Amino acid sequence: MITYSLQQIADACNGQLTQNAGSLVSRLLIDSRSVYDASETLFFALKGNRHDGHQFILQLFKKGVPNFVVEEGKIPADIAEKANWIEVKDTKYALQQVGAFHRSRFKIPVLGITGSNGKTIVKEWITQMMGSDVFIARSPRSYNSQVGVPVSLWHLNEQSQLGIFEAGISLPGEMKRLKNSIMPTLGLFTTLGPAHQENFSSLEEKLEEKLNLFEGVEVIFYGCDQEMVDERMISRFSEKQLLTWGRAEKAALQLISQAEVGDQMRLGLKWKKEHFEIAIPFTDRVSVENALPVILFLLYRGYDKETIKERMATVVAVGMRLEQKEGINNNLLINDTYNADFTSLEVALDFLVQQSRKKGVARTVILSDLLQTGIPDHELYPLVSTLIEEKQIDRFIGVGPSLMKYASLFEKSAGFFETTEELLHALPSFHFSGEAILLKGSRRFSFERVVNRLELKRHATVMEINLDAMVHNLNQYRKQLGPETKVLAMVKAFSYGSGSYEIAAALEHQNVDYLGVAFADEGMELRRAGISTPIIVMNPEEKSFGQMIDYNLEPEIYNFRVLEAFNSVVESDGPGLVPVHIKIDTGMNRMGFLECEMEELVRRLKKMPALRVKSVFSHLAGSGDETHDVFTFQQIQKFEQACKYLQSELNADFWMHILNSAGIERFRDAKFDMVRLGIGLYGFGVGELENLRNVVTLKSYISQIKPVASNETIGYNRSGALPRDGFIGIVPVGYADGLNRHLSNRKGKMMVNGRLAPIVGDICMDMCMVDITGIQADEGDEVVVFGDDYPLTNLARQLDTIPYEILTSISRRVSRVYFKE
Ligand SMILES: *Cc1c(COP(=O)(O)O)cnc(C)c1O
Repeated sequence: MITYSLQQIADACNGQLTQNAGSLVSRLLIDSRSVYDASETLFFALKGNRHDGHQFILQLFKKGVPNFVVEEGKIPADIAEKANWIEVKDTKYALQQVGAFHRSRFKIPVLGITGSNGKTIVKEWITQMMGSDVFIARSPRSYNSQVGVPVSLWHLNEQSQLGIFEAGISLPGEMKRLKNSIMPTLGLFTTLGPAHQENFSSLEEKLEEKLNLFEGVEVIFYGCDQEMVDERMISRFSEKQLLTWGRAEKAALQLISQAEVGDQMRLGLKWKKEHFEIAIPFTDRVSVENALPVILFLLYRGYDKETIKERMATVVAVGMRLEQKEGINNNLLINDTYNADFTSLEVALDFLVQQSRKKGVARTVILSDLLQTGIPDHELYPLVSTLIEEKQIDRFIGVGPSLMKYASLFEKSAGFFETTEELLHALPSFHFSGEAILLKGSRRFSFERVVNRLELKRHATVMEINLDAMVHNLNQYRKQLGPETKVLAMVKAFSYGSGSYEIAAALEHQNVDYLGVAFADEGMELRRAGISTPIIVMNPEEKSFGQMIDYNLEPEIYNFRVLEAFNSVVESDGPGLVPVHIKIDTGMNRMGFLECEMEELVRRLKKMPALRVKSVFSHLAGSGDETHDVFTFQQIQKFEQACKYLQSELNADFWMHILNSAGIERFRDAKFDMVRLGIGLYGFGVGELENLRNVVTLKSYISQIKPVASNETIGYNRSGALPRDGFIGIVPVGYADGLNRHLSNRKGKMMVNGRLAPIVGDICMDMCMVDITGIQADEGDEVVVFGDDYPLTNLARQLDTIPYEILTSISRRVSRVYFKE
């Protein structure tokens, strides 16, 4: 850890220093939630679209953070004389300047990576392949933004021999700032694509902006098959060394051939007139695109082809994929067994904390020695122990010789083991039960064996939920709305089938303003699990009103009966203002007050001083379909009129909301104060948003393969047959799992090793059969019912229904597995 004086920091960002306490800084903090070891921490109060870091200063001060960078005039008076302050005009810019100041102290090669896709993979693969030879400081995950870059640069330390940092932009002018922070000496451009095009008038303009990163570098690596990129590189950077990859003859590293052999792709390459072959352990096109720059960079660094070949064979897919699984004995497992360095440990611990706030859930960490951190052990393990302490881990189990050596640092230690075998041996003695367990190990410790032992394997069909994709979708909608519009995320019906607590926790972490559930017990379950975001109950039942008040759940009031009943419970409960949400029926003809009831509603509400009308809302009946647009506009108009009337008569200031997901896409002007986002979170839009991602994947596997002749029948009622002699695979997913029986007999298909296999015969309760004739498959191979490559919308179309119904039909016995990329 490098330590600076506050004066140095203030000078670096031209800030005004007011010093009251100690004066050293070794840690930067931008996310108020991830504070640990508060001493020597400097918090930057950043202003985002959604929140203002200045709000968290008091809370952080109480946790012991002594140093703050704030906007001019924003020092909170009550602690002005107790903490240290650096006042600046713009805290984000100050953060960038401090990042640049730290960076400027290192005279090592620094590779700056930009481009539309593949930045993170290229960075992680280079690290995987070179990390055992040089100490690499790099961006954690894809921290490549205006804020992420300076924080990443702070990972440079005395041991660092190479820096690799990503730079991503979405606005003109941003790259210059990133370049000034990163100060790359080498540049790598992955690809030019349509991502983040919104704010650029043309692809050329965006390319030009991205290329600003390379102003000061000596060497640029890029793919020369994209003509526009090649032309601009040559004309703009003629004085620099340009090293290219691609299929073109002129490429320095030329891809001559590629052949899929089993699970590998064999690349025939040419470098300096010599031909050679390298196999990569993936067969998809994108992996080939990502492998070429990695190979080229290693060649440039002087690696011989044999070494590159060996190491390329061992790269793993995504750098850090945090996977959450259900464990035996009601444990929750968080599996991060691909990677163990200090940066990713912080990320994983944050995820553990986020997912284990349920009261009474103990936190256990099983950690292997950290390799390739660039920090000497005697400094590293004290840091690890502080981090473990700060995150309030209840049990710590260490595996590996280095951790054994530093065992005494860990107060909450439950055991240390030299090897994973020894841990496996001792595993039963821990009696894990009802706890959240993070398993984090370097690959060589093969922690997957531990995961395997602790994992619950009751049913092999799983529903995978990609939390990062969900957050991505949330942000796509937020972008449509702008910062001032609040978001209520609908998590009714087990969050559209995807899980209750886990989804709500992830959304709460993203600071959504409200959650919506259908019934009170769904809301109570979330409260008991520790969710504190305000919650609206859409169908409040009279018998649960008392509990709703106890649990801080806010009712939708949709008629006079509910209004009176709720008010009488509130009044008998004693004094206090209780928030309620008034639903107006503007044409859906479902729940809600009618226009003709407004006068009466006002009359009654005026007599109910204990109720506070927090919001008034309505629901659109056909927002996704343009044939109803006239009607939808009428609904919106009726809604506005009703709200105006209520506002003036009640003299109240409430929020208004009417848009659901499709409404946000198509009627943005009616966003009012809040929107209610549901299906869009899962990636099902109505086509106005291009970048939505799939979130949910339903998977099973082939439990048996058997040959069937064309004159035989398959399954119940003898309804299935193959058109020719062939093979079927038995898949353990049936209608009891939510696989609609109408998909029987070739109506539905499943994806087996990238190919579509029709369902044959009648779907059974717990299994079904698919025709895999002509498809390369083995028993145990994965079968995708729906997912990224075989969208749920296909299934919905075949069944003449909507994605909502399919998602919410997946049985609770199918275990939900959550992961982050
Ligand atoms: C379910 C629901 C929503 C969300 O609808 P989506 O189409 O999934 O976005 C919004 N408002 C109300 C009242 C709902 O019941």
